[in-house]
Amino acid sequence: MALEIRDLHVAVEETEEVILRGVSLTIRQGEVHALMGPNGSGKSTLANVLMGNPAYEVVSGSIHFDGDDLLEMEPDERSRAGLFLAFQYPVSIPGVTVANFLRHALSSRMKAEDPDSKGMPVPQFIRLLRGKMAELNMDQGFAGRYLNEGFSGGEKKRAEILQLATLEPRVAVLDETDSGLDIDALRIVAEGVNRLRGPELGVLVITHYQRILNYIKPDYVHIMMNGQVVESGDSQLALKLEESGYEWLRAKYGETELVAGEAT
Ligand code: ADP
Ligand code: MG
Repeated sequence: MALEIRDLHVAVEETEEVILRGVSLTIRQGEVHALMGPNGSGKSTLANVLMGNPAYEVVSGSIHFDGDDLLEMEPDERSRAGLFLAFQYPVSIPGVTVANFLRHALSSRMKAEDPDSKGMPVPQFIRLLRGKMAELNMDQGFAGRYLNEGFSGGEKKRAEILQLATLEPRVAVLDETDSGLDIDALRIVAEGVNRLRGPELGVLVITHYQRILNYIKPDYVHIMMNGQVVESGDSQLALKLEESGYEWLRAKYGETELVAGEAT
């Protein structure tokens, strides 16, 4: 069971500006991958294509999930197939609690799989949610908060991780902010991934933050520059980045532009 990205070329739909220039990556269940790279290298574009954002056009290449053509699937089909994208529901929904939202998400998936299903009964859901929150060491009161309403960056991440734990996807893609400053958010995501990682879950953590190894030990590390994965390796590669930054890669791969706002 794997997410397989092959020689993917992607352009911005409106301007036809090419962003991704031949990206290949395979994320299998049970593996934790980190995708790193300077600002503007195309990391979020890849995440957006995975979620089916129509602002991007796949020019060539392919994405298969469990052997099926992901690019032919609607976003909700992708989710039902077991692909989780952290920013699927970025909006705040007034009057809907975290718990309501999660039960709705689970129930609609059950109904999509079986039209006769009545969704998840409340007592069963409460048991499930309590268990997941305990596993993640989360305050039970969090489930009663209105989703994303007045949430801090960290609380949004907590809601995301709880969603991840409850939906039990086979592959999760988590795109982190590029500021390099929101360490709290990364820490929450990393703790969640560390608790949830296991043979059933594949994870692609997208981050700009070079000191990721303080938080999570990925099985594989990939570095993207100018729309291509230029280096892949194990956590040693992240260590090298932590020590030397992106400069040696810029020298090697010819990206001269220095982008402001980078983590140091
Ligand atoms: P990263 O997440 O690695 O910082 P992005 O994928 O967000 O990089 O962006 C890569 C490049 O593509 C940037 O130069 C960005 O300005 C451009 N880009 C991304 N999305 C769009 C868009 N919707 N319209 C125009 N340019 C875009
Ligand atoms: Mg980004």
